[in-house]
Amino acid sequence: MRKTFAFLSMIFISVLFSINVYGGDTVRIGLERAYKDVSQITVTDSEIRVGIGDNNKYRLNLGSYVIKPVGNTYYNTGEYKSAYEQAAALLLKYTGTSCIPALTDKGWTVYVRADSAKLNMPTVKTGPRCVGFSVNGTYKFIVDGSSPCRIMAEDSVIDLGGNTYRGDIEIYREGSVMTAVNVLDRDKYLYGVVTSEMPSSWPAEALKAQAVAAATYVEKNKERHSFYNLCDTVHCQAYYGTQKESESGRQAVDATSGMEIYYNDEIIDAVFFSSDGGATFNSEDVWSSDTPYLKAVKDTYEKEPRLWTRTFTYQELTNICSANGYGIGNVISVSADYTPEGLVSALTFKGSKGNKTIYKDEIRSAFHPSSEGSLLSRNFKVIGGSQTEGDKVYVIGTDGQKTTEYTSISAQNGDGKQGRIGNKFVIMDNDSAETIVAAVTTVGTPGTVTLQGKGNGHCVGMSQYGAKAMAEEGYGYMDILKFYYKDVEIK
Ligand SMILES: [Zn+2]
Repeated sequence: MRKTFAFLSMIFISVLFSINVYGGDTVRIGLERAYKDVSQITVTDSEIRVGIGDNNKYRLNLGSYVIKPVGNTYYNTGEYKSAYEQAAALLLKYTGTSCIPALTDKGWTVYVRADSAKLNMPTVKTGPRCVGFSVNGTYKFIVDGSSPCRIMAEDSVIDLGGNTYRGDIEIYREGSVMTAVNVLDRDKYLYGVVTSEMPSSWPAEALKAQAVAAATYVEKNKERHSFYNLCDTVHCQAYYGTQKESESGRQAVDATSGMEIYYNDEIIDAVFFSSDGGATFNSEDVWSSDTPYLKAVKDTYEKEPRLWTRTFTYQELTNICSANGYGIGNVISVSADYTPEGLVSALTFKGSKGNKTIYKDEIRSAFHPSSEGSLLSRNFKVIGGSQTEGDKVYVIGTDGQKTTEYTSISAQNGDGKQGRIGNKFVIMDNDSAETIVAAVTTVGTPGTVTLQGKGNGHCVGMSQYGAKAMAEEGYGYMDILKFYYKDVEIK
């Protein structure tokens, strides 16, 4: 459906508005990572165009500028020109006064500093969007329009002092600071997203699945920010302009251009994450809403989940609970409940003054006050979860679960010598028949709690490592998306 529209609108635009570079699929990306609320922005290119809003017709050949907010009162000469050079030529007319070319809603003009001379001209106060472009500390021109200043490189890639972007850059000024907004065609944006979110060396079908999920995410989340659609951090989707683009990423975007994921003809919330370690969650197990296409799946494809271990002293756990305001005093024990797929559904801290059970994503975020921050996933086992258990010895099965608990343990090898043999204990039963328990590990130390986990991320929707594994097994991007998003259509 969307494809047809995109195709028709493409013809429409090319026939009637061939000057307009952008059709309906333009996105506005707030460059928060490097240019949010900054006092100056550098733009470097051999040729740039500047405009006000999407009026982008004024070309300049000046190289490198520093852009800063400008607030001044000037005399308005009232002479308007269609090109910067014509306005610059006017400067000669006002020799002896301090004046500067200014791009306004009516075109190029020259403003004269009101404190430099008494002239018989009306004064003008620059507007809240006004910014100045300087070279070596000297302003060369200002842009004072009713909409934000827009800049565009002639070669279609703008260098903002080390970071390069396709499309246009809008300078959104608020008082003494500015935020750069990248305005560009959706597919060009996705070029930068796909291989920011997924390594470019991964299989083509996994990259295509990522491209469709990212495109769907854009459409669903266009209202996420106030004066731009999405930001360039993981709050929305990681985007590094052209720096992380790759040929494989561009091919994945081109091959899936215009495609999005729908459930009952409504665009879905195509959330994704790094690694599930074996299973995903229902959306309602992580967030508040029950979403029909975001349902738990047992993931048998993911073969190389991220493994992680976090060890806490009871004092650290007490500090974490205190920082979260749980009010349970000193932590005495920690225990977990699990979903049928084996993920942690609830985590309970028992304390000297009461207990606290946490659910959903708070299970990860509760650990935010600790030195390593939130937990990577909710796919973990709790080892040594009680302060009184320090002397106990457990047999841990290959699945990481405690299978047997001993208050004392006698272990000996085949020669009758007692002690540890490599990573294994030989445990003798009463009639001396030998039982070797594989991988009897002593994880954690007395007085600490160890969380031994798999996976990385919220575990709702598509696992990126799972997509990689499916692609390696020969599945196409449609299969991948339909495995992680239930009962959806891709069109
Ligand atoms: Zn955002």
